[in-house]
Amino acid sequence: MNKFTCDICGDTSYGHSHNTQPLLNGQCCALCNMIFVTASRITGVDSLDEQIEYMMKMKDEDELPDMFLEVLDRVRDYQGKIFLEETAKISIEDLNAKLDELEEEKEIEKLNMSKEEIIYNLKKAFDNAIKIEAYEAAAFIKKRIESLKS
Ligand SMILES: [Zn+2]
Repeated sequence: MNKFTCDICGDTSYGHSHNTQPLLNGQCCALCNMIFVTASRITGVDSLDEQIEYMMKMKDEDELPDMFLEVLDRVRDYQGKIFLEETAKISIEDLNAKLDELEEEKEIEKLNMSKEEIIYNLKKAFDNAIKIEAYEAAAFIKKRIESLKS
């Protein structure tokens, strides 16, 4: 039977995979297809990040069905790891620019993220950086967390 890794949540699945267009170029499991891909085709929101943010908002407002909570965490972990794998390949200056973008007030408003949530996300990014042994990036993220806290 066909074995594949879901490009959205990172789970290994067997059998028929689903096309992740327009979110990503890849394949995904039935659950991610149902939650993310179908939703993006209906709403026209073709950014996975935006979909995750929207679901985080629903979670904060207790409007997210329980069965979605676990997959949402898994997707955030997996996408965070991919982000770190990508950012580990770019220079520290580029990573700095990315984090600067995140810290700009208007970006924060657009994302509807509090400072605490940005710190939370950076901590996740830090953990992921350690996991993939991107120590330079990890040290850098740690500094950014400290500067945000002060
Ligand atoms: Zn999946």
